[in-house]
Amino acid sequence: MPHRFFIPPEWLTGGAVAIAGPQAHQIARVLRMRSGDHLVVLDDSGWEFEVHLLAVQPDLVRGEVVGRRLAGGEPHTRITLYQGMLKSDHFELVLQKGTELGIVEFVPLIAARTVALDRDAPGKKRARWQLIIQEAAEQSRRGRKPVLRSAMPFAQACEEASRSAGLKLLPWEEEDQTNLRGALRAAGAAGRETAVHLFVGPEGGFTRDEVDLARGSGLLPVTLGRRILRAETAGLVAAAAILYERGDLD
Ligand code: SAH
Repeated sequence: MPHRFFIPPEWLTGGAVAIAGPQAHQIARVLRMRSGDHLVVLDDSGWEFEVHLLAVQPDLVRGEVVGRRLAGGEPHTRITLYQGMLKSDHFELVLQKGTELGIVEFVPLIAARTVALDRDAPGKKRARWQLIIQEAAEQSRRGRKPVLRSAMPFAQACEEASRSAGLKLLPWEEEDQTNLRGALRAAGAAGRETAVHLFVGPEGGFTRDEVDLARGSGLLPVTLGRRILRAETAGLVAAAAILYERGDLD
């Protein structure tokens, strides 16, 4: 399987590709590729391009496009994870593993119990977090890079979700009526293109006021079972279960 690289679309002109920056270094120095080798580039348009390398230098790699196909790797179920802000390394874990699983959009969520220390991270760490997502998307053979949104206050996130189509779920450890599987099955057939908005709390969980506001905005609180999961586990587990139930792990 050839190596895959997401590149800015402007690096691709006509049938020619020019790759600069850290990716050129990676191709030349780390992977030690040579002219004649093949790789795949993705411009985040939903297409992928097979590239035959013509010249490999650590600051510039040039190649020609020898094939173009629709990129696979994208799930039918479009999960947006509104993840309560976490300690930075935990948040990075969620971004990396969530990308591998197939989440399409991450929204760092500022909730009532978000710790002050965590609030600045999305701004300060944005470039690093984008890179984590990009590398995970390349490694897991995604066809598109998941989107990383700016940090969003809880009320605004509820408002956004209420205006969006699709299923809106809020895993809540106090919920004892509705479970995730029941909510998904009630929503209908697997395999269809569907949006799911998934709200997961910070370490301290959601407040009752937040859950009330969410309900009022059309979000459905669901239990993930009897065990309390850490905040960084809950979103990943819920995403995996949703994708399984919808047939996206088949
Ligand atoms: N501090 C809380 C737990 C918060 S867990 C307590 O000790 O009770 C962090 C987040 O993970 C929660 O806000 C919720 O969205 C999710 N979560 C964890 N375990 C869950 C479960 N069993 N059911 C539903 N949601 C869960």
